[in-house]
Amino acid sequence: MRPSLLDPLFAEASALPGVGPKTGKLFDRLLGGSGQPARVLDVLLHLPVSFVDRRNRPKIAQAPLGAVSTLKVRVTEHRPPRGKGPYRVLTEDETGDLTLIFFHANSGWIEKLLPVGATRWVSGLVEIFDFYRQMVHPDRVLDEAGLKALPPVEPVYGLTEGLFQRVAAKAAAAALDRLPALPEWLDDKNLRAAGWGTFAASLSQLHHPQQPADIAPEGPFWARLAYDELLSHQLALRLVRARMQKLGGRAQTGDGALTARILRALPFALTGDQQNAFAEISADLASERRMLRLLQGDVGSGKTLVALLAMAQVIESGRQTALMAPTEILARQHYATIRPLAEACGLTAALITGRDKVAERRATLEGFASGAIQIAIGTHALVQDDVAFADLGLAVIDEQHRFGVNQRVTLADKGACVDVLTMTATPIPRTLALAYFGDMEVSSLREKPPGRKPIDTRAVNAARIDEVVAGLARAVEAGARVYWVCPLVEGSEDSDLAAAKDRVEDLRQIFGDRVGLVHGQMKGRDKDAAMAAFSAGETKILVATTVIEVGVNVPEATIMVIEHAERFGLAQLHQLRGRVGRGAAKSSCILLYCQPLGDTARARLEILRDTEDGFRIAEEDLRLRGEGEVLGARQSGAPGFRIARLDLHAALLRMARDEAERVLEQDPQLTGARGETLRLLLYLFERDSALRLLRAG
Ligand code: ADP
Ligand code: MG
Repeated sequence: MRPSLLDPLFAEASALPGVGPKTGKLFDRLLGGSGQPARVLDVLLHLPVSFVDRRNRPKIAQAPLGAVSTLKVRVTEHRPPRGKGPYRVLTEDETGDLTLIFFHANSGWIEKLLPVGATRWVSGLVEIFDFYRQMVHPDRVLDEAGLKALPPVEPVYGLTEGLFQRVAAKAAAAALDRLPALPEWLDDKNLRAAGWGTFAASLSQLHHPQQPADIAPEGPFWARLAYDELLSHQLALRLVRARMQKLGGRAQTGDGALTARILRALPFALTGDQQNAFAEISADLASERRMLRLLQGDVGSGKTLVALLAMAQVIESGRQTALMAPTEILARQHYATIRPLAEACGLTAALITGRDKVAERRATLEGFASGAIQIAIGTHALVQDDVAFADLGLAVIDEQHRFGVNQRVTLADKGACVDVLTMTATPIPRTLALAYFGDMEVSSLREKPPGRKPIDTRAVNAARIDEVVAGLARAVEAGARVYWVCPLVEGSEDSDLAAAKDRVEDLRQIFGDRVGLVHGQMKGRDKDAAMAAFSAGETKILVATTVIEVGVNVPEATIMVIEHAERFGLAQLHQLRGRVGRGAAKSSCILLYCQPLGDTARARLEILRDTEDGFRIAEEDLRLRGEGEVLGARQSGAPGFRIARLDLHAALLRMARDEAERVLEQDPQLTGARGETLRLLLYLFERDSALRLLRAG
């Protein structure tokens, strides 16, 4: 049970003063996980991505252009709009004048705010237009009293459409007020050595920065929280592993009959890496210990097949298997791959997602419970309470970083001594794998199945988009199928969607109804329909937001166009490109970029052009990410983390790993005084299912 001390943090964000149900929905969309409402804790841990510095207070003539200044001005004249123009308010100081511009503004409101003759502080972006200094829609218009209350540095939060900075800042402040007094869980010596403050003080500094450096991810406040998160992760990993070792496993040796049948049914031979990986997994399964292994390899490296062989060995041993994928598209694809092979060997596989028909679902659940179904494939619908197995022996978890520790543990808990195989197509750089995964064992597929043709990758200036479209027209006439990925826009899904819709319009001018659209806000059914139409060749060009990043498999698609490629992270570009080059035909990838291209962005596109090796790309990504600049990458933590970032916090990761080891050596059940406080930490970062294991074990 969660300590009641933490209850205020787990209340819904919509209960915060100044939020309410309508804004609450926006926070749910921004911060809520898979359909869950956002909570006060989510608001607290949603750290600023940037800042506005309002400390610069020059005279008008000295105000830097294109930057934010806070200026003391006298209002000299109002010029209400003539026709469609804006409302202008002329102001001055002893050095020069500044025009304030308001579009679609209520004139009564402006007259009240800026009466002629009054002195006001205005804060906003100063620009030159038609030789006049101007400020369009000042962010702030204040009198002396207001100026005193103006924060010197304003945090800027990642938002969703309809949510405003001021609302986000207010919610963060309200959430801080709800933060209960928490005991310190970090070691006093460590704290002092690192120069860190408390959890609460660090959060408070991040939401109310005094200077820009206060919100830097490298700075002490962010680092303290990143360390907290990493420590909770390391503790959870170790608790899970200790429990597994303690409970032991069951030897699932099998007789090799099914695996042999599958191998015979395949039209190809396993690659050397696949053979090695399966040998490692097979030995784990056969041993008395519980398996906790990660299988990593690029998209298309043949992980699914290795997983199927592992499942077959477990089924030979008379037990059941489950494969959980993070999205419905992915789950369906696994099902489509596995079912024919399974059926050819006399096995039954079933799919379970969030939206099965009632009767269907009941039959599936019965099949799981009776043991009639040997292979369960699904989304997180698999971890729901009413899903039970006769005898689950293996849980395979695809794209493991997309699931929390809690979901992973829940699936593994649906059987006795369940072996766990996790898979990822996002290789973690070798330098960090050990620390990141705790002591999980890792098998890697570096080698591609034979016969893959390299993907012809080119970076093309977006100014030449017409040539690209003309090229597509020729290719489509010749039967090609094309993915067109739209840009990330300010990290907001709504703007991403707007960009995608615009692009669909443009392309339909040329290609008519042969253009389809798929995006993250579509209903599952519509998404499937759009995918199915593309897969069947009814549509030839599929415009997509990044939802196609994971999973989608249409071997006939041979061209990938990525718009604003410079905005994507390297790993993400690599994942996207992996959607093509899956069939026999030669594939190409066109990276459309806009000038000016920064050094890091240029380096990213060059690496992508040079290699398709996901492991090398992961290493390069880590190196380049340290240099920032990627929109998507700057905002999110490492996969599975909200605050910690592998590029910046690698040293903290190692520290957390050592500390977790030390703590659990002394207090393996976390029942001592410090153990109790660390339990709070596990709840805060949602790794508390590891505690359930303690009690059970
Ligand atoms: P991943 O899960 O790593 O993305 P898959 O297991 O889906 O990769 O494999 C991608 C494609 O490659 C599938 O069509 C699969 O049948 C094929 N494949 C897998 N292993 C081999 C192999 N050894 N030789 C040839 N093709 C293979
Ligand atoms: Mg796969």
